[in-house]
Amino acid sequence: MLAPLSTEMALQPLRFWRAFIALNFLKYLTGLHEDRLARCALVDSMTLALDNRASWYGDLQTVLTRLNAPMEAPDAWAYLPQDVEKAVATLNTAMLAELQGAINNSPKLYLLHGLRERGDGLKVLDFRHYLHVPNAAHRRAITQILLSSHSLALERLRWTEHRRPRIPREDRKCRICKEAIESPEHALLECQADENLTTLRNTFIAKFYQECPTVVRPGQGSSAHLLQAMIHEEISIKLVAKFTFEVLSIFEGLPIEGLLPGDSCIVRAVLNAMRLDRYKGTGPGTVHSKACPCTDNPGKPVFSEWTMPVYYYYYYYYETILYDFMIRL
Ligand SMILES: [Zn+2]
Ligand SMILES: [Zn+2]
Repeated sequence: MLAPLSTEMALQPLRFWRAFIALNFLKYLTGLHEDRLARCALVDSMTLALDNRASWYGDLQTVLTRLNAPMEAPDAWAYLPQDVEKAVATLNTAMLAELQGAINNSPKLYLLHGLRERGDGLKVLDFRHYLHVPNAAHRRAITQILLSSHSLALERLRWTEHRRPRIPREDRKCRICKEAIESPEHALLECQADENLTTLRNTFIAKFYQECPTVVRPGQGSSAHLLQAMIHEEISIKLVAKFTFEVLSIFEGLPIEGLLPGDSCIVRAVLNAMRLDRYKGTGPGTVHSKACPCTDNPGKPVFSEWTMPVYYYYYYYYETILYDFMIRL
């Protein structure tokens, strides 16, 4: 899905961009005097196209039809730059409709829908205000939330990895309260189960309404709409991006249930055990590290008798990784 790349950064998709260049050239040709050879060649090309024979003009017509902006074949000598301008306008409308349709039909981009439906002069193609947030980490966080490319369970458990099947949407529960679906709006505006999170949110809400007193208040509609409204405000975008970054950091510090982090000590231990089993017999294995998301003390060995069933359980999920690993040995 490349549509957001165009709409959020004001870049014309390549297919359209090339057609615009060809139309500009056509406009130049139609503006030439009748004695000019290039103009004669164009008339020739248009005559061939009328006969359904291979020609530059015929190719251009085919391309424009495929882009949903079909172009008429008018009388070749009476063709004027103004006629080409009409074709350019049709192509532009077709491009905007296609991009808008792609965004609106994507359920993953639901936070972008609101940004466009407000109708207060916001363009389909525009370099968006949230991309101007100066802090790179904050900018990345807000962009991840808007484009549904974040580390919250709603998105993370959609992926199928290492033979784990995709988890149904209603089961992608919040890792803190374990009740609601862990969506951006739940994490940012709803979840009450963590004290740090609620303090952070209350401070943010107070600052936000100082800067933007006219925005809808919490409770005046769905949280998703409130979040859209908050992100839409240009003056407070730095504040919103910083808050998003901080909330995502809180969530990223906690493991998602049903998902083993790739760098967890269990995985390292399994990998080590596999290697040791194969080459040296059984060895001491891996110890827990400080960075490990589990609650065991750093330095404690990962494997004990009771962790062996865990070993086999994860071995099933991590078969693919292990296989890759074995190949590399
Ligand atoms: Zn929650
Ligand atoms: Zn550990």
